[in-house]
Amino acid sequence: MDKIDTIRTKLLAEIDSTDSPRSILRSKELRELYAEIPKLPVEQRSDFGGAINVMKQQLEQAIDRREAELSAVDLAPIDVTAPMDVNALVPELLPSSQGTIHPLMSEIDKISDIFYRMGYVTEESREIDDQFHMFESLNFPKGHPARDDYDTFMTEETDADGDRLIAPAHTSTMQNRVLKKYRSRLEKGESIAAIVPDRVFRNEDLDARHEHTFYQVEGVYVAKGVTVGNLIATLQEFLQEYYGKKLDVRVNPFYFPFTEPSFEFALSCPFCEGKDDSCKVCSGEGWIELLGCGMIHPNVLKAADIDPEIYTGFAFGCGIDRLVMMKYGIEDVRHFESGKLDFLRQF
Ligand SMILES: [Zn+2]
Repeated sequence: MDKIDTIRTKLLAEIDSTDSPRSILRSKELRELYAEIPKLPVEQRSDFGGAINVMKQQLEQAIDRREAELSAVDLAPIDVTAPMDVNALVPELLPSSQGTIHPLMSEIDKISDIFYRMGYVTEESREIDDQFHMFESLNFPKGHPARDDYDTFMTEETDADGDRLIAPAHTSTMQNRVLKKYRSRLEKGESIAAIVPDRVFRNEDLDARHEHTFYQVEGVYVAKGVTVGNLIATLQEFLQEYYGKKLDVRVNPFYFPFTEPSFEFALSCPFCEGKDDSCKVCSGEGWIELLGCGMIHPNVLKAADIDPEIYTGFAFGCGIDRLVMMKYGIEDVRHFESGKLDFLRQF
């Protein structure tokens, strides 16, 4: 056993000083020890063999440790506390800042969620449409002067009637399709309830309040016995949910070809609640003209094969950019499409 201890000490020292430590397992000393086992008295062989095996395990652990040391020796040590050399950074290799959902998109999700809880489905609009859906189906006959109010972008392409296609100037361009898609619900005694939050395009002169591309949410509700009272209650409920506070509303008569009667819908300023003469959001008036709405014109229902003698409904159209600007006190609509990160990172 003393001999084993002596050899153990010698071989462990050799492992620590050699570049090929695993060769120690083939050393002459180890082979001689194994050769001694059969020469021992039978009763000693087991203890002696066991002691050699324990030593061999210790040698193997030392070899693993030494091999790890040898393979790591070429790596430069890293001082994680050292100051960073900014000039040595390669911008393309840096991890990018985390992206976020565009504020208009996340607000559209919130708007859709409020209407979903009131039983409305959400439909998408389209970016090119024909004049039937944009005008005729909405009770703007050909040559109607109100067509000019929309400053529509026209394409060179024409439809089957020879009319030029257009980039929709309002989400009402989907009204006829939505009414037709869900009209079978009316026969089952249910209602048509849908919103269309999407992009619209107008040939506007750009300023802090006008963009050529912006977002609107269209709402359509049709059933038996729908009244102006339902319209006002629905819009008031939506706006109070959206702004998270009680708001007063006011309706003034207005004119749209596709609703009769038509209204301009104003709400008490959610910013100053009419208490600040210098409020920039409402110009100190305490009221904000926010959206157009009304009872769906009988001709619009007829264009979708819905009998206006049996069913009535309301429709509204609201600028989403404006809603969001008022919610967050954003003073310039052009920020939304600017791609400016210092603006977008606030949301
Ligand atoms: Zn105000």
